[in-house]
Amino acid sequence: MSKKIIIANWKMNLSISEALRFAKNLARSTNQVIVAAPFTFLASLRDKVKRGDFRLAAQDVSEFEVGAYTGDVSAKMLKEVGCSYCLVGHSERRIYHHETDSQINLKIKNLLKYKIKPILCIGENEEQKARGQMSKALKEQLLGALAQISDPFQIIIAYEPVWAISTFQKSAKKKAASEKDIVLAHLYIRNLLVQFFGKKAGGIKILYGGTVNKKNSAEIFSLKQVDGALVGNSSLKISDFNAIIKQ
Ligand code: PEP
Repeated sequence: MSKKIIIANWKMNLSISEALRFAKNLARSTNQVIVAAPFTFLASLRDKVKRGDFRLAAQDVSEFEVGAYTGDVSAKMLKEVGCSYCLVGHSERRIYHHETDSQINLKIKNLLKYKIKPILCIGENEEQKARGQMSKALKEQLLGALAQISDPFQIIIAYEPVWAISTFQKSAKKKAASEKDIVLAHLYIRNLLVQFFGKKAGGIKILYGGTVNKKNSAEIFSLKQVDGALVGNSSLKISDFNAIIKQ
């Protein structure tokens, strides 16, 4: 299997001591492992990154560069605390905080300015899927987020269909998207990227996210269109996450 990018998205879970224990017990992996931690954990995790087992990501960034924006954290501040990556446009931010594509676009521009790699999350919701509007939704989100960006090669795309994210599923038995759905969406995103940025866009990494766990990760990673995974719930238990990164 080629080297994958595997990102733990802890969301608003764990404590600093649990995060440090997690970093200590993280398995060695031939994959590129990234941990997207809450802002308040970043300074404590920074030293652990030096061992080289994983890289640090933030879960969000301000759309503003500096100034009177109470509660915001800027790209420059994230750089200072050792972040090499940052999630942007996660569906939980789009849904709960009403983030728009133009705000996401500004966030990406700020991150690129400070040489932090944005991990852009895009994905259709259940209603859009039911109406056959997956491609329309992905195109709008991608075009909006990448407007006026000439060098997209530092950006990682995470295809995260909202209906496949575990916390948005009502049934107790959570399910990832089917292989067919994942492949179709990844091919569509890849085609869009090539249309916007030319052949070089073939090198942009596209990850899948939505109920990836230790049981289904090998199968998902075997899909040649999938360059890795964004993992929510299954990144909270070290044994589960280690099983995923050791694939
Ligand atoms: C996510 O929210 O980014 C995610 C992929 O969550 P989960 O793995 O729990 O579906």
